[in-house]
Amino acid sequence: MSDCIFCKIVKGEIPGKKIYEDDEMLAFHDITPMAPVHFLLIPKKHIKSLMHLEAEDVALAGRLLGKAQELAKELGCGENGARFVINAGRDGGQTVDHLHIHILGGRGLGWPPG
Ligand code: 5GP
Ligand code: ZN
Repeated sequence: MSDCIFCKIVKGEIPGKKIYEDDEMLAFHDITPMAPVHFLLIPKKHIKSLMHLEAEDVALAGRLLGKAQELAKELGCGENGARFVINAGRDGGQTVDHLHIHILGGRGLGWPPG
């Protein structure tokens, strides 16, 4: 989508500190990190949110989860764990309307969210 920030990062139109890329997904550091490890993993396909996932996207979503845990381990969270977050829609606190998984780690994180 032409006015989507994350699609622009996929296309290289705005910079992103990339961690991983293949033909269907991209991981990059969050611009406002909330923890020592805080990166985002997105599908290259513009899917507005988890609420907009269609049947044809379910296998891709599974591969995203697998890659999320793999990258979390690579970035040092294998032993102590990490937080995997998908905000969806207004009440979910989503601010960028392109499906993304937050991966946070490197410190203890509170629960529940405010
Ligand atoms: P949401 O609130 O939608 O779940 O999370 C969006 C996240 O995207 C936020 O954590 C925000 O810091 C991050 N973000 C917004 N714009 C940019 C950007 O241009 N580059 C990067 N790397 N992260 C961004
Ligand atoms: Zn997009």
